[in-house]
Amino acid sequence: MKKMETDVVVIAAGLSGLAAIVQAAQNGLSVIGLEKANITGGAANMGMGPFAVGTKYQRMAAYDLTPGEAFRQHMNFTHWNVDARLVRDYYFRSADTIEWLEEMGVEFFPPALPYPVSERMRAYASPFPTGHCVKPEGGGMPGPRCASTMIKRLTECAESLGANIMLNTPATKIIMEDGKAVGAMAVDESGEEIEIRSKAVIIATGGAGDNPEMIKEYMGYDWGKDLFSFRIPGVRGDGIRMAWEAGAGHTPLTMELMYQCPDNMSVFSLDGAFRTPDLWVNLDGERFFEESTSINSTFTGNCIKRQPGGCGISVLDSALVKKYAKQGPAFVDHVHGFHCFDNFDGDVETAIENGYEYVFKADTLEELAEKAGINKERFLETVEEYNTMCDENVDSYFEKEHKYLTPIRKGPFYALKFYIGAYGTLGGIRINHHLQVLTEEGKVIPGLYAVGTDSCAIFGDTYPFTLGGNTMGYCLNSGRMAADYIAESING
Ligand SMILES: Cc1cc2nc3c(=O)[nH]c(=O)nc-3n(C[C@H](O)[C@H](O)[C@H](O)COP(=O)(O)OP(=O)(O)OC[C@H]3O[C@@H](n4cnc5c(N)ncnc54)[C@H](O)[C@@H]3O)c2cc1C
Repeated sequence: MKKMETDVVVIAAGLSGLAAIVQAAQNGLSVIGLEKANITGGAANMGMGPFAVGTKYQRMAAYDLTPGEAFRQHMNFTHWNVDARLVRDYYFRSADTIEWLEEMGVEFFPPALPYPVSERMRAYASPFPTGHCVKPEGGGMPGPRCASTMIKRLTECAESLGANIMLNTPATKIIMEDGKAVGAMAVDESGEEIEIRSKAVIIATGGAGDNPEMIKEYMGYDWGKDLFSFRIPGVRGDGIRMAWEAGAGHTPLTMELMYQCPDNMSVFSLDGAFRTPDLWVNLDGERFFEESTSINSTFTGNCIKRQPGGCGISVLDSALVKKYAKQGPAFVDHVHGFHCFDNFDGDVETAIENGYEYVFKADTLEELAEKAGINKERFLETVEEYNTMCDENVDSYFEKEHKYLTPIRKGPFYALKFYIGAYGTLGGIRINHHLQVLTEEGKVIPGLYAVGTDSCAIFGDTYPFTLGGNTMGYCLNSGRMAADYIAESING
């Protein structure tokens, strides 16, 4: 068995782990990062960018949301049922974290993205763009995977500061002595066990999004049946398990819920195109929400979760498809971009030819209902009621804005089934606002810290989509904050 010693062991070099590693090294501490995968960055390689408030980008564009106002919005959204000091400290540090990243060479898109303003603002269902999308190296538009450039810069910076990041080296256990965390066990690439002794241990393993058994046990979802969440390979709840074994208290394990069609990356344009504010029904053939809510991915996820079969169906007719192909979609949500209707019919045909079983095309509404397994009689009644409301320009049921009231009359007709998805899990390990791990009784476990999604219980029951970029924001800032608290405690 190999033996090593360091000031801080960081278990995982995903987003929060890297932030902790860099900040600890900048604080003059020696750091070892243990990373299970053969690359750094975890789920963050897939994303766009972090939340921040009070940044120069927002000031330049005259967005005057202050950290204090954003904090109050967050706390009201969560009914003050989360750790106010943790949220406050994170929000007030977030702008500094953007500058910290810029010093490493990370660049961000200015908030004035190349979309019409009203649509851009709707992207986060609030007039304040808080998500800071990373500019990908080599150019490109804002979109999925942009944040992998931020991971690259963080990793380079960690290495330049002398941090030792060991890839293909999963941590297996926290070493506990007299109730204190004094290091971690790991297994290196060759299969040899390593014992690393340290003054502090930071857990940052990114939750349990790739662990359907844990998801079923703690949340009751059946992955692949009523949940189609992203599964970042290797993110299996290791850190949560290790912390619990070391005596950590539990917080509810939740999904970072949103909605998507199954295997959405293979039908990406369709997943974007059907996110319209037009007619949506459930399998019973009934409307179930005010459809312009579909721009808010987490609220829509909550609505879909409650429907029969956990399924919500977006319905389009040819007139709408033609309109959106000409004018662009009603909403632009940044993730799917402006062009998802460019080859709509071709995308539908290809998906059907490839055996994709969640998208449907039919000449009549009856046939559409049959193909999609929707209650036909009720669906036909719903469409008739809906079309009458459109003709009268008043949604007398959900009071949708009249600009979104367009009848569904012209075949062929199209439908896509949406289910709940998620970016991963949130929470599991109980902490205080210094990111110190607590026992079930609320006592600090000396030397043990948990950051990133493993400890993220600041969103309450729903991810605050209105303050976008919040998971990456929490991951970066919790990592930095833990590293600062550790430096203070080690250096007195
Ligand atoms: C498609 C997609 C898009 C997203 N877009 C955004 C966005 O634009 N903005 C935003 O705010 N959030 C976004 N998110 C969420 C965000 O990326 C994650 O919340 C964030 O990366 C989590 O950071 P983390 O450090 O907790 O975990 P991760 O970044 O996932 O890192 C976890 C790391 O732990 C490692 N690990 C696991 N077990 C062990 C072990 N035993 N030992 C050592 N290492 C281990 C894994 O290999 C991984 O590298 C997105 C997520 C997805 C999936």
